[in-house]
Amino acid sequence: MNTGAALHSSTGQSRTDRMPMLQLRDVSKLFAGSNDYALHPTSFNIATNEVLVLLGSSGSGKSTLLKLINRLLIPTAGEIFFKRQPISSYDPVLLKRSIGYVFQSIGLFPHLTVAENVSTVPHLQGKNKQQCQSIATKYLALVNLDPKIYAQRLPHELSGGQQQRVGVARALATEADLLLMDEPFGALDSITRDQLQQELLSLKQQLGKTIIFVTHDIFEALTLADRIAVLHQGRLHQLGTKYELVNQPATDFVRDLFKKPLQQLANIAADSSHG
Ligand code: ADP
Ligand code: MG
Repeated sequence: MNTGAALHSSTGQSRTDRMPMLQLRDVSKLFAGSNDYALHPTSFNIATNEVLVLLGSSGSGKSTLLKLINRLLIPTAGEIFFKRQPISSYDPVLLKRSIGYVFQSIGLFPHLTVAENVSTVPHLQGKNKQQCQSIATKYLALVNLDPKIYAQRLPHELSGGQQQRVGVARALATEADLLLMDEPFGALDSITRDQLQQELLSLKQQLGKTIIFVTHDIFEALTLADRIAVLHQGRLHQLGTKYELVNQPATDFVRDLFKKPLQQLANIAADSSHG
């Protein structure tokens, strides 16, 4: 498998070398009692203000990679640098608070109001009640939830899409430069998901965040990514722009991954020319 060559031939590499938000150097994870790596040694950089999408099927190591980045997991070998400092040198609690994390399962606190959920980290950081309220108001408005209507509700009084917006607002309210988003829109219907994808792109423009976004959905990856990292069975097959992945696939797996959707689009285009 041509993973190393693929990785280093990425044209994105020189761009990310200028201002890396995050650098992985031969990072691997072998879980105790397991006989194969959940993540084989992996190296790449993520530039400031970049959206990197981790694309792979279930069990490919996407969540493991995110958890290594915010130190929910410790690598078996290798080193991760956040803003040029090894993450092992950060206080783990401070590190978790300086990296926003959005889960698929949302993970809102059911007994806290929407506003309290959004301002969880600012509250832990010692902000007073008034400051927390104004932070919650600001970020609820940013994710298109009217604070007057939603701030005092409990999570169960919201739709799935609205809850996911609260999850995004909570991650933004950490005011972290780096957001990790683990299949955040996976459980939503496709119309709501399209809306949230567009909103995320516009938030990225407004706020200048660096985002690592996990998905198993090729079209979601193509919509959101500056660059896409294709993971399969714990190996990084290729990291590059969508043009590179489609036109210069580094492995058979990457080529086959894009072949079917491209073929479907080509078929639709051919059909419409007859209609
Ligand atoms: P993905 O998020 O791409 O679906 P994961 O990163 O969750 O994949 O899992 C990658 C592999 O690591 C899987 O084979 C999974 O079973 C294994 N794995 C994940 N977490 C643990 C754990 N805590 N202990 C043992 N194996 C794990
Ligand atoms: Mg996962």
